[in-house]
Amino acid sequence: MLDCAIIGGGPAGLTAGLYATRGGLENVIMYEKGLPGGQITQSSEIENYPGVVGDITGMDLMQPWPKQCMKFGLVHEMVEVKRVSKEGEIFKIHRANGEIDEAKSVIVCTGSVPRRAGFKGEDEFFGRGVSTCATCDGFFYKGKEVAVIGGGDTALEEALYLAKICSKVYLIHRRDKFRAAPNTVKRVQDTPNIEMILNAVPEEVYGDTMGVTGIKVKNKETEEIIDLSVPGVFVFVGNNVNNEVLKQEDGSWLCDLNEQGQVIVNLKMQTSTEGLFAAGDLRIDAPKQVVCAAGDGATAAISAIAYVDEKFGN
Ligand code: FAD
Ligand code: NAP
Repeated sequence: MLDCAIIGGGPAGLTAGLYATRGGLENVIMYEKGLPGGQITQSSEIENYPGVVGDITGMDLMQPWPKQCMKFGLVHEMVEVKRVSKEGEIFKIHRANGEIDEAKSVIVCTGSVPRRAGFKGEDEFFGRGVSTCATCDGFFYKGKEVAVIGGGDTALEEALYLAKICSKVYLIHRRDKFRAAPNTVKRVQDTPNIEMILNAVPEEVYGDTMGVTGIKVKNKETEEIIDLSVPGVFVFVGNNVNNEVLKQEDGSWLCDLNEQGQVIVNLKMQTSTEGLFAAGDLRIDAPKQVVCAAGDGATAAISAIAYVDEKFGN
């Protein structure tokens, strides 16, 4: 029987593993279907992790984390988890191969995936000029022109953020009506260095070995192609949280989610199900930053230690 099962091995899962094992829990497995590190390993540069200076990639940042956790006894199993269920006080971890492990507590840290818009060059230049994170990458385009794709709250808020850093922001949206809140739309309209290109879809992002150099945008009504010379393209067309492991066989969910599928937690990272915790990008109101995911992981592990101690007298 595991004291704690951690699902996902990004910054939240690894930090949860560090705190859970170092804090005295025994038999702690972190299930990570790939190599530990999470989505930040796709980033070519990270500048906003406190205390870490110099030109480092996301992979560089995450490389020492697993070793630090293993030192205190965390076990990494390179396994995909299909489902977590609960019978009485005991959680069942359903591995993709059909095997089932039992655990006294579970911390779900399966993260999220920004949606891709699906235009030519988007995948090829992802991390080399195409980005889904303005907080992370906006600074690289200080004083330069960038394009933003999308018409929801995220796209418009991130366009406003980028407009403070960049000389000009082209906001490209496929309709002439926005999903974003009216007040946000007004703020965008009132920002002189944001130019809206409406009823338009990205045709192709192009570039060279150094990264993106431009984007071609097609007007849906006139079919006219506009060619924008920009080194950065930010795509904000929605986000999917990886919550599938919480779905039960009968279609219900193991704990409460909001309408976007994000796990509802309190400040202790407790979910609506006793003994089940969630941390990182998966939870409500996640700032979607490495430092925040790591902080959540620590909080969730401290809560799990208290829970296991109280419930099972460890
Ligand atoms: P994730 O990092 O998403 O990790 C979740 C892990 O769970 C993954 O490794 C996944 O394989 C695993 N997993 C999912 N489902 C299962 C399953 N069923 N079974 C087993 N394993 C599973 N943040 C910053 O602070 N600064 C930056 O500069 C920055 N730049 C970014 C650049 C890019 C290109 C991207 C994509 C993100 C960037 N971010 C940045 C955001 C940051 O990466 C995330 O906020 C952070 O990684 C979230 O951590 P997490 O542990 O919650 O989830
Ligand atoms: P969203 O509301 O789903 O908006 C996605 C946008 O991307 C839409 O404008 C959509 O166009 C466009 N889009 C989708 N697929 C596309 C494609 N393939 N190509 C081009 N454009 C595409 O996503 P979000 O902005 O990330 O917001 C998610 C949720 O979080 C929303 O409920 C939002 O209100 C909320 N949120 C709230 C705040 C806040 O309250 N301050 C901040 C951020 C997010 P269409 O409009 O034509 O569908």
